[in-house]
Amino acid sequence: MQVSSAADILRVIKEQLAEQLSRPKYELLIRPLTAIDYTTNDSDDTRLRLGISNEVLRGWLIDQYGDLLSELAQLIVGGEVAVEIEVSAAAAAQLADTTERGGETRPLEVVPPREPAVIKKPLLNPRYTFDNFVVGKANQFANSACWQVAQRPGASYNPLFLYGGVGLGKTHLMHAIGHNAWERDHNLQVAYVSSEKFTNEFIECVRTGRMPEFHQRYRGVDILLIDDIQFLSGKPETQQEFFHTFMHLLESGKQIVIAGDRPPRTLKGMEERMVTRFSMGLVCDLAEPGLETRVAILRQKALLEQAQLPEDVLSFIAERVRGNVRELEGALIRLLAFCDFSQAAPSLEVASRVLADFVDAGGIRPRLSIKQVLGVVSEYFNVSEPLLLSPNRSKRVALARMVAMYLAREYTNLTLSQIGAELGGRDHSTISHGVNKIARDILEDPYVEQAVTQISRLLK
Ligand code: ADP
Ligand code: MG
Repeated sequence: MQVSSAADILRVIKEQLAEQLSRPKYELLIRPLTAIDYTTNDSDDTRLRLGISNEVLRGWLIDQYGDLLSELAQLIVGGEVAVEIEVSAAAAAQLADTTERGGETRPLEVVPPREPAVIKKPLLNPRYTFDNFVVGKANQFANSACWQVAQRPGASYNPLFLYGGVGLGKTHLMHAIGHNAWERDHNLQVAYVSSEKFTNEFIECVRTGRMPEFHQRYRGVDILLIDDIQFLSGKPETQQEFFHTFMHLLESGKQIVIAGDRPPRTLKGMEERMVTRFSMGLVCDLAEPGLETRVAILRQKALLEQAQLPEDVLSFIAERVRGNVRELEGALIRLLAFCDFSQAAPSLEVASRVLADFVDAGGIRPRLSIKQVLGVVSEYFNVSEPLLLSPNRSKRVALARMVAMYLAREYTNLTLSQIGAELGGRDHSTISHGVNKIARDILEDPYVEQAVTQISRLLK
């Protein structure tokens, strides 16, 4: 790639990191970055200067993403480059009374990686490794399938198809495969691409008559990790191209890993032959992690952030933020950022204040009472409320009950345990099971999908 300005490089860095990092991290640390300049002299003194508004953010950025920024910049410019992060004068001027910081800029060199940029290291998020992936019931099957694929690419499950809702670790596991396989064999060509990017590149190469280049890029790899396959739906030309790439790789014994938001056969607008092929290897799903796993994930993320959080705070977050892992991570980052700025210790009290705010700011779901949810569910399925709470296991009652669990989780503020208590004294794992089952059935069973949609409409 031909790059000439700091702004160009920064733009590509932001594009990459927008895909790789969780939103809160991206918003907090990457989006505010400004380009100062990019100088390249004949002597191998190439540097990229980026600016950020204050010292705290600068410290965080360097600690957490210094290496990654260097690495990315290096890949983008195709050679050694020192990345410097400065508190930028423009942003600092906005801080009214910080005269000592004033307009002064304080460059700090981020040590560039020792290896030369020529090695074809795949562009992967360094944090998305197997080591950093917390295994629980909801993901252990997917995790071990990915691990095996990384040990013997092309020789175990091919293709490997991962599916699950947003933020449950599909992208993480794909990158982990890439890292792990490449660490053992630096000659392996690993390509990670979202199907959206694949589509754009394809269109661009068709338009500019560079199809041979496109073929070479994707047909020459040893491991192709293709993410968010659902974006290919309704795009027959790209699907056809992808299918040829796919078959080419498969026939040459190369590994393909695909991730999508639902199982192959329920993908819409997808060519039949593709769906058939997708299902021929191994298909495994990622479900929402249970409470214990969520606590373990938080513990591990806190460790990565080098933050010490008391156990009660970890449990509080895990109970309170019940969505996917990305939301969980967002809540943690939010709390840590708050504590960092306000110099407060992350106590239970601080956490509840910050997270109340987190939920409000997200404004994700209207909050209803469990009574309201039960009322509407009972009416829709024509199952009385006492029957919903009873141990009765007839098919219709059990379905209505699980839908109630699912919607209670969506629309109330209650934790899984609290929902369980309200639903006839069931424990949180029963509720978690019901919620996950409905989440899956929505994708696979039109009847359930319709029920949930219609009841949701009534609840709003
Ligand atoms: P998906 O691709 O399924 O939408 P991601 O792989 O992007 O989800 O995961 C979202 C975030 O949650 C990432 O930061 C990822 O590291 C984290 N994450 C998901 N599952 C786990 C897990 N089991 N252990 C640790 N982190 C996880
Ligand atoms: Mg993803």
